[in-house]
Amino acid sequence: MIKLHDKYFKPFISAKEIDDALTRMAKDIANDIGDDIPVFVGILNGSFMVVSDFVKKYPKPCEVTFIKLASYEGVKSTEDIQRLIGLTQDLTGRTVIILEDIIDSGNTLSEVHRIFKNEKVKTLKIATLFYKPEAYKKDFKLHYIGIEIPNKFIVGFGLDYDGLGRDIPEVYQIKETQHMTNLVLFGPPGAGKGTQAEFLKKKYNLVHISTGDVFRYNIKNETALGMLAKSYMDKGELVPDQVTIDMLNAEVEKNADANGFIFDGFPRTNAQAQALDKLMDSKDSQINAMIALEVDDEILVERLLKRGETSGRADDADESIIRNRITEYYNKTAVLKDYYSAQDKYFGVDGVGSIEDITQRLSAVIDKL
Ligand code: AMP
Repeated sequence: MIKLHDKYFKPFISAKEIDDALTRMAKDIANDIGDDIPVFVGILNGSFMVVSDFVKKYPKPCEVTFIKLASYEGVKSTEDIQRLIGLTQDLTGRTVIILEDIIDSGNTLSEVHRIFKNEKVKTLKIATLFYKPEAYKKDFKLHYIGIEIPNKFIVGFGLDYDGLGRDIPEVYQIKETQHMTNLVLFGPPGAGKGTQAEFLKKKYNLVHISTGDVFRYNIKNETALGMLAKSYMDKGELVPDQVTIDMLNAEVEKNADANGFIFDGFPRTNAQAQALDKLMDSKDSQINAMIALEVDDEILVERLLKRGETSGRADDADESIIRNRITEYYNKTAVLKDYYSAQDKYFGVDGVGSIEDITQRLSAVIDKL
């Protein structure tokens, strides 16, 4: 990821893909033109890199010239196109190929056609490395297109964001920061994560995903996933990472429009935490905080045995399994405190007290994020 001025951009099109597209375009154009010596007209500023790389690939003699237009385009396109340098040579009877870095709304192209209206060229063709079909509002034919892209702001390979980014040899796409709040609710078994998640999801309009609940749902419905998970859960051991990560990804995908998530019982290992970061990144989002409920072991055992009397959960009924789950938590899961602390995202909250008091303590942390 890179930052230009106030905005973040993520890698989008590699130098290799650009190179392949330009190679293909040079070949197609050379085939179509035959023996004429074409004049390639680059539209400055953006197209300088396209023109430079393109003509090096063009297999036959050619001429190169530029016109300079200014479009005052930032993240939002505007209509305002100015001609700063027009044609400086007579192109009567010539085969002219316009070389553009990108065509989006087509406003620049209108200006180009205005410029060439009174020139008695033999042929005028348009070639563009990038094309945004969703943004294009004109009828002018585009003869050669390198790569079609969605209607999102890009920089690199000649394209800039407010002056910066033209020099980058590959293309980056703007990261649209969705305003999601994503929380990891953390703490040993019996710390009250599930109870608190119920309150927090309503208060902050978040989707609550408890991996333990999803596993139990699968066990109840006797799915293949449930059967697999059961063998581990019954002993108080962790279900293997890949199984858990795939399941979590699917749960998040089911809620594509969520305002954010409360992850409860996930991640439990470093591999899971990394997978979660990757997943959030793919949504142009991130984990905002890991909030840990801190409760003494003996209180946990007491709470879980009590819950076992009514919950029907096998792993809550037996003190040795309960202690194993707590040990698992400290052995495998507590490393995540370091993972999130390193990113300044770890917040410990006292998990002993009334449910309301604890909700208050958690809200105080969330409201400051
Ligand atoms: P919980 O309801 O969070 O206490 O989870 C109950 C059991 O489900 C755990 O003891 C594990 O066997 C399994 N489990 C839940 N979440 C995970 C996870 N993130 N990774 C591995 N196993 C999990």
